[in-house]
Amino acid sequence: MSVTMEQLVSLCKRRGFIFQGSEIYGGLAGTWDYGPLGVALKNNIKNLWWKQFVDGRNDMYAVDAAILMNQAVWKASGHVAGFNDPLVECSKCKARFREDQIDTSVCPVCDEKGTFGPARQFNMMFKTSIGAVESEDAMSYLRPETAQGMFVNFKNILDTYHPKLPFGLAQIGKAFRNEIAPRDFVFRSREFEQMEIEYFVDPRDEGAAAQTFDALYDEQLRFLSVLGLSSANVHKIDVPAEDRAHYSKRSVDTEYDFPFGQKELLGLAYRTDYDLAAHATASGADLSYFDEETKERIVPHCIEPTFGVERLVLAVLSDAYREDGEGENKRTYLQFAPTVAPIKACVSPLLKNKPELVAKAQEVFAVLKSRFSAIAYDDNGNIGKRYRRQDEIGTPYCIVIDFDTLGEIPELVDTVTVRDRDSGTQQRISLADLGAFLAEKLQ
Ligand code: ATP
Repeated sequence: MSVTMEQLVSLCKRRGFIFQGSEIYGGLAGTWDYGPLGVALKNNIKNLWWKQFVDGRNDMYAVDAAILMNQAVWKASGHVAGFNDPLVECSKCKARFREDQIDTSVCPVCDEKGTFGPARQFNMMFKTSIGAVESEDAMSYLRPETAQGMFVNFKNILDTYHPKLPFGLAQIGKAFRNEIAPRDFVFRSREFEQMEIEYFVDPRDEGAAAQTFDALYDEQLRFLSVLGLSSANVHKIDVPAEDRAHYSKRSVDTEYDFPFGQKELLGLAYRTDYDLAAHATASGADLSYFDEETKERIVPHCIEPTFGVERLVLAVLSDAYREDGEGENKRTYLQFAPTVAPIKACVSPLLKNKPELVAKAQEVFAVLKSRFSAIAYDDNGNIGKRYRRQDEIGTPYCIVIDFDTLGEIPELVDTVTVRDRDSGTQQRISLADLGAFLAEKLQ
């Protein structure tokens, strides 16, 4: 089923996934705060990425560079001169828009027709000043991408780890862009997180470089399937030359069918030696690679797979959103893949005023929590309400301790009911088998 943005935003707020940033002060446009379930969902996505792209390979080097960098980095990378969006302003109400995001004959705020002046270039980097004295020299920027933190550490990794080509640097971290028009919930924010890889290849072997590009694209798709995204909603876009960054020899965007339309989720770009060459020239550092076999010095080419964490969170939420049933039985649930679900299972006593049920439920909860950690305990309201609550946050399994667990029907002693989120069906499983059951289902 297709979900609307209103449904998603409301569920995220109601259930404590995502809130407007600085909400009690009326908010701050383009910023979002994550509550416990949102943090868990985001961490699951980041951990799965790390597992696949860093820990799962033997050619990746992790980096965690500072957000604040010498302003020279941003001059050399081209961001000071060129990280611009075309901005137009309504001459009546002064509202500002990105030129490519509106129909410039009508102002979306005041409905005035034909009042936009010519577009001017607006630099999207947030400026800041380092130290006590505000001067041109003390100026820096909040990084608009994590990539440059890896290029400036290229030499550090070469000198300390001596990797052989091809190899990659990988990083997860915050990025900041002063978007002219933040919109579509977390999709276009002013502060967000990126997961990026700068993968260095030998430029002398163009065939191998092209194969690596395709292999990295396949890895991106594999990651989306690990997150449980339906492949029907994912689209490959070969970016035409006129729309590519000037340094990119080839770019493939992965777009996703968000509730507001098909938009960029991930990117993959062949950045050539543009960044290393620019930093070598500007810094004077030697950013070449020595080929031991041919005794040649070369500047590697770079292929960059880039992922936006918030856009993945939004895609995972909208892909998982479901409604079913009628009238009293109507329910909303999130059909998360178990790997991304913030809570893996919820343990409940059938009744919270029966100490023997509560004691057993607490015991089961403690055992599962120590093994799976993301386990909830819920004894509020009746069982039906608890199921609805867990369905809405996408918990795959609900485990209930009842009188049969305690031996009311002797054959059922030490068994519990396990309810499946998607089908709503229940089965009885013995406590001895419960851990193995969950371990298998949650993979
Ligand atoms: P767009 O064209 O949508 O502005 P972009 O092409 O500028 O995006 P990149 O510079 O390629 O984006 O950034 C890499 C990734 O970072 C994107 O694929 C996206 O997932 C994420 N990203 C970029 N801008 C934002 C933003 N304002 N809010 C959230 N995520 C973003």
